[in-house]
Amino acid sequence: MFTENKTLPISAIGQGVVIDHITVGQALTIIKLLKLSSPDHPIMLGLNLPSVSMGAKDLIKLEEHTLSDKEYDKIAVLSPNATINIIDDFKIIEKMKLELPDKIADITPCSNSRCVTNYEKVKSLFVINKRGPLAIQLRCYYCRKQLTQISP
Ligand SMILES: [Zn+2]
Repeated sequence: MFTENKTLPISAIGQGVVIDHITVGQALTIIKLLKLSSPDHPIMLGLNLPSVSMGAKDLIKLEEHTLSDKEYDKIAVLSPNATINIIDDFKIIEKMKLELPDKIADITPCSNSRCVTNYEKVKSLFVINKRGPLAIQLRCYYCRKQLTQISP
């Protein structure tokens, strides 16, 4: 039987994904970006929770849900410290730290309308420009424009 765990301050899920150690303020952006609003997938949200390592953090629990590698990349861009817990039968069966590759393909269109990726059949590609503990900066591989916003 599940016993209350201090690291899981909101109700436990039987099966799904817990995105933990999200930079404060980014949980809602992540939900919006991943289009996680389907009524088939209940979402539990923890905002501004106390965290030993971060001071405060956001947390998202996705019931009966799996995420793709591309979705993990988007989460890593928004919140480089995020950790992923895969839950089955109320237990953590896999725990991982998100890792950002040096280049990220196809997560969002380039915001430069004259960029080759927007008028030819070239997938968008971004290179990591700057890494910080809370956010990273991406630049378009083709036109060098800095990415300011990730669109769904
Ligand atoms: Zn571009």
